[in-house]
This record gives sequence, structure tokens and C-alpha cells, in this order.
Amino acid sequence: MSQSKTDHNKQKEKLYKKVRNTSTWGSAVVYLLLLVLFAVAVIILAIYVMEYIFESKFKQGCLELERTVQLYEKGSDDKSIMDFIESGDSEFFVQDSSGKTVYQKGKNTCSSNGGKFSIANGTETYTVYADTELDIVYPKNKDGMGFRLNKFLEWYDFDLDTAKFPVWVSVDINGGSQKLIGKAYFVITPLEKVLVLELFLCVVIVVVVIGLITFIKIIKSAVNYRRVVRLFYSDEVTGGHNWTWFVRYGDDRLQSSRTKKDSFAAVNLVFRNYRNYCLCHSIQEGELMLARINKVLSAELEKGELCAHATMSNFALLLKCSDEQSLAARLNGFIKKLHEMDSEHNFDFQIGADIVKVQTNESGKIVRRKNCSIKNAYNNACAARATLGETEESGVCIFDSKLLEEQRWRDTVSEHQWTALNNEEFVVYYQPKYDPRTNALKGAEALVRWDSKELGFVTPGRMIPIFEKNGFITEIDHYMISHVARDQKAWLDAGYECVPVSVNVSRAHFIESDLAEQIRDTVDAEHCPHELIEIELTESAFFDDKKAMIETIKRLKSYGFAVSMDDFGAGYSSLNSLKDMPLDVLKLDADFFRGENAGERGEIVVSEAIKLAKSLDMLTVAEGIEEKEQVDFLAQQGCDMIQGYYFAKPMPKAEYTEKMSRDKNGDKNKTNREE
Ligand code: C2E
Ligand code: MG
Ligand code: MG
Repeated sequence: MSQSKTDHNKQKEKLYKKVRNTSTWGSAVVYLLLLVLFAVAVIILAIYVMEYIFESKFKQGCLELERTVQLYEKGSDDKSIMDFIESGDSEFFVQDSSGKTVYQKGKNTCSSNGGKFSIANGTETYTVYADTELDIVYPKNKDGMGFRLNKFLEWYDFDLDTAKFPVWVSVDINGGSQKLIGKAYFVITPLEKVLVLELFLCVVIVVVVIGLITFIKIIKSAVNYRRVVRLFYSDEVTGGHNWTWFVRYGDDRLQSSRTKKDSFAAVNLVFRNYRNYCLCHSIQEGELMLARINKVLSAELEKGELCAHATMSNFALLLKCSDEQSLAARLNGFIKKLHEMDSEHNFDFQIGADIVKVQTNESGKIVRRKNCSIKNAYNNACAARATLGETEESGVCIFDSKLLEEQRWRDTVSEHQWTALNNEEFVVYYQPKYDPRTNALKGAEALVRWDSKELGFVTPGRMIPIFEKNGFITEIDHYMISHVARDQKAWLDAGYECVPVSVNVSRAHFIESDLAEQIRDTVDAEHCPHELIEIELTESAFFDDKKAMIETIKRLKSYGFAVSMDDFGAGYSSLNSLKDMPLDVLKLDADFFRGENAGERGEIVVSEAIKLAKSLDMLTVAEGIEEKEQVDFLAQQGCDMIQGYYFAKPMPKAEYTEKMSRDKNGDKNKTNREE
């Protein structure tokens, strides 16, 4: 179940990352790619068009030069031809194989910067040189020619006149013994100029338009992304943040190197009255109250602190924290603020917190809390909060290692309880009760011990509260009744003089309406007489359903079981219970005889309690008696039985059996103390 939940959360996080990446950066990248592709396509097209113009113009220029070459080749020795050449506009010079100029017409502005240029798919190759005066066209190092951009732009500065660009072209003549280097012109007409300009503008417009679209798309995606994030991280009930947000940013705060020097506290706050409030009003009203709580808590946050609605009536917070005292004070302040939120109702809020301190390495340097998890810290906070109990009272509890130990112990006990029951690891100890006047054995109380293979010898104080919480106590109670009944029957059969043994029945057991019948059946199954079993109810049991309790007591009594009120006087007064419950025995709590309670006033209370019990026709048992003076006092007051270390501690069955056998073998009613 928890595994599938983790998987679900992982999937959710993956989905979120996907949305995050695709919504903004994903589309931005796509648009940028499109922009680049489109721009490249337009530029390539422009280059092709330019090249086409360039090549055809160059060819035209070369054709004119060809004519000069033909004339020069034909008439270098013919004066009339040379005169014709001289009268023309052509500019060229002829070099012999050693590079010496043998003829020159016009100004030689040919630069030494030359290269090969091929046209018509490489079928015609020329050696070309730039013009030193107007080098708009230049030969590239390898093949081809190009425009100098700055010159090209300059060219656009002037009117839409026909533009002529010079380039020097070298042609081999006279069978390669000489070469003629002549000035050829690119002639670009106004129409072609407009065409080039339009091409250029086209490229610019396309790039700008795609750029704009990309920009708009990115903005839109960013807005959408924020919406998705808000949806993903917002809490439907409170309108604030949800648990996923808390985990995401909580981990970030705890693990980041920016915050490594800060101590934090993960906090679990529970609105105790949520269910009841929903019952009395409505779910909607309840949710509105949660939203108000969220608002109050959020208003209390400092920069960098977090608050989220975790589940139902639980809120998760991550607070900065300097020390335990100031944290506790601040959390109590939260409770105060929450109380002020609604003066009509008396709400309760319980808070648990776990402090996450700074982490240091071996040399004492503060390091990043790399492996620190907000979920762990929050879980500890919840565990601390859970120790405040089910009572509807406000309070604050801060997690410590002792609490962790307790929690581990609780889990271990719960884990082993059933195996222990099946393996009969629970052992019945008997603590005898004596008559303080005669020192005669009058009864005993059965007390459970757990002789565990894994956990060692476990006393009730370490397990009974856990069993009461997890419900296993009902199993223990039946187990004890069954074992005590079995022992009593065995002692009876062996000829011992048996005294009633009281068995504790937890208040958790009283939820079962047929408890009296269950006890009767369990005792009957062991064929034990009912008068040998007494049922002890702890005082706290009397706070539950009183009517049902009286009914159960009456039925138990009708089956012949004695019923006693355990720990009378401990905690709250149970005088009222005494009034309503038809009980047989009153067990005075050990607290009457300890510390501040002892002394003159204590003696008055005990003496009056015994009198009260007598008036109600009840027997009295004093618990936890350790001193002789106490025994004497109780004997004087007419207390019927004493159960305490003065006479005997709880003991294993064999030891108790020994006491009974002595009782039977003439040395009747003698206690250890007297020996
Ligand atoms: P309880 O029913 O009030 O039992 C009396 C407790 O007081 C026993 O502790 C006993 O050992 C102790 N005690 C008796 N005389 C003296 C004395 O002179 N000095 C001191 N310091 N202590 C004395 P234990 O056995 O540890 O049991 C503690 C509690 O655990 C019991 O209180 C009872 O509430 C619960 N418990 C024990 N066994 C069972 C059981 O089988 N079922 C249920 N439901 N609860 C049990
Ligand atoms: Mg008891
Ligand atoms: Mg008791």
C-alpha cells in the first residue's frame, strides 16, 4: 500500500517535471529551432539568388574581357588593331612568363590578393584579383568570390543607378606564354539592386517575425507553466499549498547549501475538533475553518518558512528554529493566535515538532544536510504530536531521541505480541493479599509478565499501555482469566485451599457488550468456580459508557464473580462511580501511602475511604504497602486486605503455590515476613 503510494508520488513528480519542461523550455526550444531553420533556409535561398546574379554578372564581364583578349591575341603586332584597343575603355596589362609587364593599357589597380573562381558548376575557372580602389568584390582564399559586406552596404547608400563593380581577371594568352589581366565589371541594374534589397529585407523580416512569435510563445508558456504549478501545488480545501508542495520545497530548504547554516523545525499541527465541528456544522464549514487556520498560520511565517495543508485536519510547517525553548514558545503562540481566531468555540490544537539541526563533518565544519528528508522530520513531528494523546487538549511536544526509542519499542512490541501469545510467552505472576490483623492469605492479584525470547523480561508498565492503545489488551485479559481459572482449578483438584484471585480487565474491554458472558465462558471452559475469580476494573474504566458498565458489572455479579474497583483515588475522584456501581471490593491506590499523600491528612482520607466502603458493604484492599507502620495503621482502621511488598512481591506460579501449600499444611495463614 505504502509502496504504491510512493510510486504514485514518484509518477506525479515525473509528470510535473514533464509539464514543467515541455510547457516553457520545450516550446521555446522548438520555436528557436524553427526560427534558426527558417532563417537558414531564407539565407541559403538568398545566397543562391545572389550567386546566380553574381555568376551571371561575372560571366558577362568576362565575355567582354574575352573580346579584348581575342583582339590583343590577334593584333599585338598589328598597329591598327592596337590603335583600336587603345581607343577603347578596356583596362588591362599583359605579363610574360617571368611576371614582367610587357603591355599596359589604362590604370593598373589590380591587387595582389587573388584566387580561383569557378562558375557554371566548376566547368569554367578563372584566376581573379580584387580591385585596390573598389574592393567590394573579393576573391576568397580558396574558391569563389564574395562581397565585402561593408562595401555592399555602402553601395546601397547611393541611388538606384546602375552599379559597376570592378574585378581583375587573368586569362592565359599566346599558348600560355603570357597572361592578360584585365578589368572586368559586374554591372548590376537598378532592378537587380531592388531584388537584392528585397531579399535582404525578406531575411530580416522573417527573422524578426519568427523571433516575435517565439517570444510571445515563451511568455504564454511561462504563464501556463505558472498556472499548472499553481494547480499542481495548491490545496483544494484551504486554497493554500498542498503536501506535494511542502515535500518539494521542504526537502529543498533542508538540503540546500544556501540554508545549511539554518536550523529548522518540521511541525505537525492538528486541529483536534475538526471531525466534531464537521458533524455539528457541515463539511463545507469545516473546510472553511481549515482555510482560516491556514491563513492564520501563514501570517505567522517568516521569510523562507513553509506552511501547507497535509491531510484532513493536519498542517505541515517548516520553521526556522534557534533552540527548543524559543520554538516551544513560538508554537504556543501559534495556538494562542488560533484560539483568538474563533472566540465562539473552544478549539484545541496539538503540535508536534522535530528540530533539524545544522550538520557538521569530522572537523566541525558545517556541511549540507544532503540526506536529510522533510518526510522523516515531519514523521518525527507527528510521532511527537501523537504522544499528546487522544485527549482534546491543546499542547506542544518536541521530538527527542527518547521518543524515537519509545516509538521503536511500541512497534517492536506490536510486532511480537501475537507470536508471544501463541507461544505462551505471557506468564501469570501472583501477588498475595493478606489480612493485616491475622496475616492470613486472603486473596491474590494476577499480574502479567512477558518472558520474551527476543525482548527479555518485560514488565506490565512497558507493554500494557501499548496493548491498550493497539487493542491487544483484550487478548491479554482473556489469556489471564483463562490461565488463572486453569491454575485455580488445578490447585483445587490438588487439594489446596484456594483464595479468590483478581484479574485486571482493561477499560478497552468494556466496549464489548457481552464481556460478562465472555468471562463466564472462559472460566467455565476451565471448570473453575466463579467465586475464585475476581474482576478488577481500573478507575479510568469508569469514565466510559457508564450505563453499559453498570450492566456488565451486574451481570458479572449475577454469574458469581466479585468485582473490584482498582486504583481508587488515583487521578480523578471516583466517588460518583462508587455511588452507581454495585461493586464488591475497593482497592485503595498505592499513591495514598506515598510522598505528600502520606501523613496525617492522608490517614484521615484513607480512614474515611475505608469507612465509606464498609458503609457500602464493600471489602477494602490497600495496595502498595511497604512499611510495618502502614500495615498497623490499616489494621486499626479495619482494612480487610493488604497487597504490597511488605508481605510479598508479585511472584511466579510455583512460588505462590508454595505459599498456598504451606497455608494448607498446618502453618496456615503465615506470611514470609513472619518467618
Ligand atoms: P495494578 O493492577 O494496580 O497492580 C498493582 C501494581 O502495583 C503491580 O505492578 C504490582 O507489582 C505493584 N505493587 C504491588 N505492591 C507494591 C508495593 O508494595 N510497592 C510497589 N512499588 N509496587 C507494588 P505491575 O505488576 O507492574 O502492574 C502494573 C499495572 O499493570 C497494574 O496495576 C495493572 O494496571 C496493569 N496490569 C498488570 N497485569 C495486567 C493484566 O493482566 N491485565 C491488565 N489489563 N492490566 C494489567
Ligand atoms: Mg490491579
Ligand atoms: Mg492497582
